[in-house]
Amino acid sequence: MWFIWPLLLLAALTGLHFWWRGKYHRQIKQQQTALNEVKRQVQQTSLDAQAQQKVLFDSMQEGLLLLDRNQKIYLANRAFINLLDLKSELRGKTMVEALRLHELDDLLQRVEAGHPVSDYEFKLPNLNERWLQINAAAITNASGEREGTILVFHDLSRLKQLERQREEFVANVSHELRTPLSLIKGYVETLLDGARDNPEVADRFLKIIERNANRLDLLIQDLLTISALESGRLKLELQPVNLQSLVDKVFNHLQSKADNKNVQLVNHLPEFTANGDANRLDQVFTNLVDNAIKYGRVDGVVVVGGRKLDEGKLEISVEDDGPGIPPDALDRVFERFFRVDKARSRDQGGTGLGLSIVKHIVQSHGGKVGVSSELGQGARFFLTLPKAG
Ligand code: ADP
Repeated sequence: MWFIWPLLLLAALTGLHFWWRGKYHRQIKQQQTALNEVKRQVQQTSLDAQAQQKVLFDSMQEGLLLLDRNQKIYLANRAFINLLDLKSELRGKTMVEALRLHELDDLLQRVEAGHPVSDYEFKLPNLNERWLQINAAAITNASGEREGTILVFHDLSRLKQLERQREEFVANVSHELRTPLSLIKGYVETLLDGARDNPEVADRFLKIIERNANRLDLLIQDLLTISALESGRLKLELQPVNLQSLVDKVFNHLQSKADNKNVQLVNHLPEFTANGDANRLDQVFTNLVDNAIKYGRVDGVVVVGGRKLDEGKLEISVEDDGPGIPPDALDRVFERFFRVDKARSRDQGGTGLGLSIVKHIVQSHGGKVGVSSELGQGARFFLTLPKAG
């Protein structure tokens, strides 16, 4: 029976081995699970941080571009992609590859040389009138080493457009003022040079001077109105306004002008009461009816009519049976200084600001203006106003 002891010992050792191995494996497994969990948490935290970063960058109005230390795109936010109308994936590309804008290379080189770039203005070559302002700087770590580049893009298009409109406006105003002024100067000089000695000629010249002085006066009045309307300085005094009587009053003022062309003025407006500023609405209808007489035909008819719209709104129209407005000018007649026929408008004493004033006044009442016309078939201007009560 001596062999039983070694066998028992062997069995005990084997049991001990398996017990130890199981325990050891369990520990390793537990450690591995814990390690995996830590890894998962680290990954999750990094993903969360990235997602947060993306949400933050995407919520920016400015376009943002981050380049790594090899000048390759690491991140482009949504505003940047929209601003440049980009479709393809940008990550990993250089700016020139992604944007095909060699001009920006120079800008990057300046940043690389350690000079931050601020307020660099740049016009995109392919997109219509898209202007960008770029600020760029190097990103460095705590030890001052270059980690990459940050570029912030601001859309300047609207600002540039306003700047251009302002310049055009100033040029137009100067031109409009200069024309009557130089006529006045010219005739005054001729009178002083001797024309005053001939009463007939003097009378004719003085009438021309008077007409041009009136034109200047009208232009300045219109400019002041436009400026007050655009700056919001002009406050409306809202009250119930009977439109039918208002149009009758306007017709009265313009009757002699209509008679000169044998134009019939017809008020078809029902008893409509708008919530508006009576003086401003008088200006609106005076401009529209005056235009209808001026640009309508001799022996023509001008009709003012109206209908109720939903949501407490009234639509009023002023219609003539004149030559009408060409289709390509329909969208532009409400622009300041736009005229279909410049010479004709000037002959009629127009300033080119009437319809723009009409549009501003109607819009400040919360309404809309529009026009429809077919050549040879007359023009129909319409506007909406809030109903009183
Ligand atoms: P203006 O002082 O030249 O009349 P407006 O702003 O009132 O300026 O009108 C702009 C242009 O719109 C006019 O010069 C004219 O060419 C065109 N227009 C306005 N009303 C009519 C109309 N009823 N029929 C044809 N053309 C019109």
